[in-house]
Amino acid sequence: MPIAVISDIHGNLEALSEVVSYLEKKQISDIYCLGDTVGYGPNPNECVELVRKKAQIVLMGNHDYAAIGKANIEYFNEYARMATYWTINTLKEENKQYLKSLPFSHQNDQFLMVHASPTNPAHWYYVLSAQEAQIEMQAFNQQLCFIGHSHVPVIYSSGRAVKSRTYQFEPNQKYIVNVGSVGQPRDGDPRACFVIYDPDEQKLEYVRLDYERQKTHSKIIKAGLPAFLAERLLKGY
Ligand code: ZN
Repeated sequence: MPIAVISDIHGNLEALSEVVSYLEKKQISDIYCLGDTVGYGPNPNECVELVRKKAQIVLMGNHDYAAIGKANIEYFNEYARMATYWTINTLKEENKQYLKSLPFSHQNDQFLMVHASPTNPAHWYYVLSAQEAQIEMQAFNQQLCFIGHSHVPVIYSSGRAVKSRTYQFEPNQKYIVNVGSVGQPRDGDPRACFVIYDPDEQKLEYVRLDYERQKTHSKIIKAGLPAFLAERLLKGY
């Protein structure tokens, strides 16, 4: 049975709704979310409620951690910091309680899932190169580790970084798969990004979906969030 792995929704309800209805049409009900459900975007409550309803497993991301007052946001850039204060003020208590309950990782025989890095899921390091990925691979025994955090889709294996819409995994190889971002892609493609993984076929597919970006853009401006956070959605950076 194929599963969907989504990440970095960032309060973007239009993008998340598009992904959810696509998966419903494909009859994929095994959905895993790698965190950062909130932060930056104008609909944190709606996104938490929808992801809670639809995903089997939801992990803690650094923006979720910040929204429950736990992360040190001194290291956030100005936009992220402003958005964090806005999110803290906007989130319902019930949704904050739910975010507090989220784990930093999830694993089974086949894969490990974390928001940031396998070596220390609660420390929010970025895995940004094939070299770093080689070191990170020592932290898990499974064949695969799914990550998010950078918002850039890429597959790391044997010292290489591969960008490909579809991928066939080889036995006895280890992989770190960055699934990209649903609600704030940063790879120059503004469409929502996530993966569908078929464990039986050992196949991966990146899905890109158009959504009503202009609507999210207007909501961000109307909410009084930094305009930069609206602009970046139109171009995917
Ligand atoms: Zn993120």
